[in-house]
Amino acid sequence: MNIILLGAPGAGKGTQAERIKENFKLTHISTGDIFRHHMRQQTEIGMLARSYIKKGQLVPDEVTVKIVELALEETGKRNFMLDGFPRNIFQAKELDKIAVIDKVIDISVDFAVLTDRICGRRNCPECGYTAHITQLDGQNLCPKCGAEMQQRMDDREETVKSRLEVYNEQTAPLIEFYKEQGKLFTVSGMGSPDEVFAEVAKVLE
Ligand code: AMP
Repeated sequence: MNIILLGAPGAGKGTQAERIKENFKLTHISTGDIFRHHMRQQTEIGMLARSYIKKGQLVPDEVTVKIVELALEETGKRNFMLDGFPRNIFQAKELDKIAVIDKVIDISVDFAVLTDRICGRRNCPECGYTAHITQLDGQNLCPKCGAEMQQRMDDREETVKSRLEVYNEQTAPLIEFYKEQGKLFTVSGMGSPDEVFAEVAKVLE
């Protein structure tokens, strides 16, 4: 089974992806994670990606599609979960040329709560754990491994506004695109991670 996780920034795609990966044995392909890896390694792609990511803009399609193509080849184009790709109609059409998608899960969250979720998000640079700042008991330490939690540069308030605009203008039209293909399943992302996962699991079982 090949699936796509759709949803605005802050909808909880990453959190659900972890659970789906464990429970349904799908390879997790997150374009955001791939770009962050390149940025840490200071590769050419990383430098280019940084210049877009820090402004809350999309990395050019040409680069992004190539990266996904390579990642899909590694999976043999089977049993994968795309998270953060496609982000616009062009990418979705390119994807249709290179792989077969079975289901698209749209995690839907009220726009009003997204900014708070994203700006309060903190990540552990050591183990990858993600939490909201209110869950850290005033200490900025990872509850799992004790490392100091960090804020992604594009989770700062000034960048979040443009990320949400990009989502509305370029990514939200994918909902209609996949509805027309008969592949769209919408799940409310307003509950706890476990509650949301219970709904996601029903779609995938
Ligand atoms: P994410 O971790 O999915 O929120 O992605 C972080 C940032 O990486 C986005 O705001 C974009 O700048 C870039 N990015 C991730 N996926 C894509 C994509 N499919 N197309 C273009 N840019 C992307």
